Amino acid sequence: MVYDNPHAVVLCHYKREKALCHRDGVRDTPSLDRCVPGCGNIARTDQQAAQLRERATRLESQAASVPQPVGDRLRASAARLREQADKHDRTRITLDGSPA
Ligand code: SF4
Repeated sequence: MVYDNPHAVVLCHYKREKALCHRDGVRDTPSLDRCVPGCGNIARTDQQAAQLRERATRLESQAASVPQPVGDRLRASAARLREQADKHDRTRITLDGSPA
């Protein structure tokens, strides 16, 4: 079963034995509101990778107009989003099997 999780910008290809969102035991459905970035059930489309980069750009823009500690956190979040998008680019699977 595949679940769309627009909040986390992922597709969840749910296999309960791999799920990281259940702290209190195994369930038959994912806890989409507790999605964990390193979960092995995560899949992304190219469009979702682009959405991550758009979010990163917005965060970096906001970081320029807030006090430094807050700005630093926003920039760190933006960097994490860009790394997730870059990971998608490095590991993406295409219909014809080509890497990019
Ligand atoms: S952590 Fe995210 S990707 Fe993993 S099973 Fe839970 S909702 Fe799905």
